[in-house]
Amino acid sequence: MTFHDMSLVERLLIARRGTSYFAQRLSELTDSELDGETLLAGWTRRHLVAHVGYNAAALCRLMDWASSGVETPMYESPEQRGREIDEGATLSAAAIRNLFDHTVARLDEKWRTASEAAWAAEVRTAQGRTVPASETIWMRTREVWIHAVDLGNGGRFADFPEVVDEGLLNDIVGMWRKKGEGSGLVLAADGREPIAVTDGATTTTVRGRLEAVTRWAAGRGAVVVDIVGEQHTPPRWL
Ligand code: ZN
Repeated sequence: MTFHDMSLVERLLIARRGTSYFAQRLSELTDSELDGETLLAGWTRRHLVAHVGYNAAALCRLMDWASSGVETPMYESPEQRGREIDEGATLSAAAIRNLFDHTVARLDEKWRTASEAAWAAEVRTAQGRTVPASETIWMRTREVWIHAVDLGNGGRFADFPEVVDEGLLNDIVGMWRKKGEGSGLVLAADGREPIAVTDGATTTTVRGRLEAVTRWAAGRGAVVVDIVGEQHTPPRWL
């Protein structure tokens, strides 16, 4: 069963578990450790936590759009999104933690009170995809689980529910195909049908446990994967 085949209740549960997982990693960091680096080039933990908070706020705007029919985009522009994160990173540690808690609670409230019509209403993501508002659950799920790893203090893809690793790998391969990337690349997760990103000759095979292959594909490093071929770094997917 894929994430999208699950009931709304089950999907919300996985998103909330991801939020708790992120919150747990965050609570283990001291205020001064928030100045430290993340797995994302150029972003400190302050930037990352501010981003995860503002992402929840942006998804609240999509839920508002779905409920009211009044178009409220996730972000005004990519520049506005970037500026917001840069400014958020300069807040005090307490304010950054507060931003995270507050936006998480707001999004959860929007989800708890959404009508059936609102869940089905179409909204547009920052990437320009038109999706039902229920897609915000997957969008948030991806964010909180991956960024918990990006905090760099013990988060692991192996801790993700299997359905999240699977969904992520699927998304990543879909993005590569759309951008014409990853030609000749085959992802072979243990016990699963290998995924050839493109038709034609295989030039590189990446093999390992599902979580390790997903981690590699997401650009978060080659940890216990076997790479046979020339492509040691994955194409970008976002
Ligand atoms: Zn993000």
